[in-house]
Amino acid sequence: MSDCIFCKIANGEIQAQIIYQDEDLVAFKDLNPQAPSHILIIPVKHIENLAGAQEQDALLLGKIQLAAAKIAKELGLKDFRLVANNGKGAGQSVFHLHYHLMGGRRFLWPAG
Ligand code: AMP
Repeated sequence: MSDCIFCKIANGEIQAQIIYQDEDLVAFKDLNPQAPSHILIIPVKHIENLAGAQEQDALLLGKIQLAAAKIAKELGLKDFRLVANNGKGAGQSVFHLHYHLMGGRRFLWPAG
């Protein structure tokens, strides 16, 4: 999508601190980290959020989660949190599906 900031990161139009990239997904550092390690993992394909994903995206969603676990391991994170905010009321501010991979500090639960 032409006016989507994460599409622009995925296609190289906007710079980001990319730590992993392949034909399906991109992982880069969050500009405003909420934990010592805070990585965003996005599909290259524009999907608005998890609610906008379809059956045909099942493999892609699986790849993102496996990539999250692999990246966490590479960053030395034994414990980590993986979050996808879905919709404004849940805190979503960028409407291109993304997972927040966060680690390096203690997290509370319930999250509030
Ligand atoms: P959310 O609020 O769940 O939609 O998360 C959007 C995240 O994107 C926030 O944590 C922002 O800090 C992050 N963000 C926005 N623009 C950029 C950017 N250009 N590069 C890296 N992270 C960004």
